[in-house]
Amino acid sequence: MSFTLHGLAVSGGIAIGQAHLISQATLEVSHLVIAPRMVEKEVARLEAAFARVRAEFDAMTKSLEKSPADMRAFIDLHRMILDDPELSEVPKQIIRERRCNAEWAIVQQMELLVEQFEHVEDVYLRERSYDVRQAVERVVRELSEHPDHASGRLKGVKGENLIVVGHDLSPADVMAFKDQNFASFVTDVGGATSHTAILARGMGIPAVLGLHNARSLIRDKETLIVDGTRGVVIVNPDRRILEEYELRRSQFEIEKSKLKLLKTARATTLDKVKIDLLANIEEPGDVDAVLESGADGVGLFRTEFIFLGRGDMPSEDEQFEAYRKAVKGMEGRPITIRTFDLGNDKQLHVDESFEDRRRDNPALGLRSIRLSLAEPKVFQAQLRAILRASKLGKVKIMVPMLSHAFQVDQTLAAVEHAKSSLRGEKIPFDENIEVGGMIEVPAAALAIGVFLRRLDFVSIGTNDLIQYTLAIDRTDEQVANLYDPLHPAIMMLLSHIISSAEKANVPVSMCGEMAGDPMFTRILLGMGLRQFSMFPAQIPAVKQRIKQSDISEIEPIVRRIVRLEESAKIEEQIERLNTLQQ
Ligand code: PEP
Ligand code: MG
Repeated sequence: MSFTLHGLAVSGGIAIGQAHLISQATLEVSHLVIAPRMVEKEVARLEAAFARVRAEFDAMTKSLEKSPADMRAFIDLHRMILDDPELSEVPKQIIRERRCNAEWAIVQQMELLVEQFEHVEDVYLRERSYDVRQAVERVVRELSEHPDHASGRLKGVKGENLIVVGHDLSPADVMAFKDQNFASFVTDVGGATSHTAILARGMGIPAVLGLHNARSLIRDKETLIVDGTRGVVIVNPDRRILEEYELRRSQFEIEKSKLKLLKTARATTLDKVKIDLLANIEEPGDVDAVLESGADGVGLFRTEFIFLGRGDMPSEDEQFEAYRKAVKGMEGRPITIRTFDLGNDKQLHVDESFEDRRRDNPALGLRSIRLSLAEPKVFQAQLRAILRASKLGKVKIMVPMLSHAFQVDQTLAAVEHAKSSLRGEKIPFDENIEVGGMIEVPAAALAIGVFLRRLDFVSIGTNDLIQYTLAIDRTDEQVANLYDPLHPAIMMLLSHIISSAEKANVPVSMCGEMAGDPMFTRILLGMGLRQFSMFPAQIPAVKQRIKQSDISEIEPIVRRIVRLEESAKIEEQIERLNTLQQ
């Protein structure tokens, strides 16, 4: 039966392929009854999984030998939990008595224990139910031959005609299958500027999020059409629809390759203003696409993506290696490395101290620069690694999510500290490295002066600026309709940041999603923006729009648009501005 689902159009283009469903949670296991002759085999399978998890614990303990004791404590705790006969022995009895598969046996026993914990008065003990779950999850993963996350769920599956269908995909999941060449992915939840959506745009594949019931309505191997431009998924299309979409897909590809011809053209407006087009990247391997796109440099390297979803903290050397690769790859072009923007939907599953910091409102919690300043050792390792890489090219440091002037002061002091430790060790670095900050919290946008006085440059993060100004979670599809870049408050803030930076003579760029959408190119040019940073794949369309624009004509119109008080009117005027033949 053919049917159509509607969701959020988060990454344009058309994909046609076969559905590949991925399971929702590790602890959602199948319930099987084992043949009597298979029972002992199943017990042995469970024992082998325990042994592999214990070996994994040993390796983790070894790699954390020099780390503080509390970083190792959670491994010891999980080991103790698994060594308890309640988990190591009872599930074997369950397999023998009830002839369950190993996964089901251990999950049943876990549920029993968790329930007991939840009735305990002592808060500390009650919270240990979370550790029991985590420890069991490790065993279940081993049983299913699953490593950490989606890469496991997608193991052995590869292909340009596969469309991943999941209830939810974290950014770490998407990173894990980045090199597996999928045609597209669709999910039930997620907002248009969630990092999952951003990654889809970076990978240049169509994606639709917020479909609500895709995971339960679509079956494995069904034929799907994903129209990422309109936010539509057609399941089991008939021949006529299929042919129509095949045609649309090839037209889309032709348009894309036509735009690629602009690669070597300069991004200069009709009135000869040169605009810098920079690229956003997530890992060193992305620099090939950056060079291919003809970008002038990297305006945002989201360093946290290299390490998402791992079980340990990257060492300074490991980080240096990643930054070195990216800097070298840019062949002398500038590269802005952003310090970790961890937290919220970008979690690093490192140790208890990080886990302990999670709260119900993670977007407003200890994330990003707040987390870096609260973890001086982690911050120093990153700053030292960036500084070491600065000797190899034109590197800038950028700090995310600033809201208070003292955060800049503390960051600059941390950079100084890292510099002096390197000097002491006679390790070379760029003494004049620039330090800039992201303006993505309304408080920083409104009180921009204190940041402009302290920083070498600023970059506007519209994704968070919109989230925090309009008080809507960018990862929640239920409020996605309220995510409005054209809200008058956003127009006012953007115009205020850009004109203040211009007056203070501090370079200002934009690296949020608005910078890569040609719909906003003219309004931003009219506000005075001269540096745009976006995914390499978005550069050609924005460059084309720049080349067709005359800033002197646009400016007076934009001044009027910024004063409008309704999104609908702003949208109407921007559409007119965009159709203006110059
Ligand atoms: C932003 O918030 O606009 C931004 C560029 O940072 P991120 O999307 O990584 O939060
Ligand atoms: Mg941000």
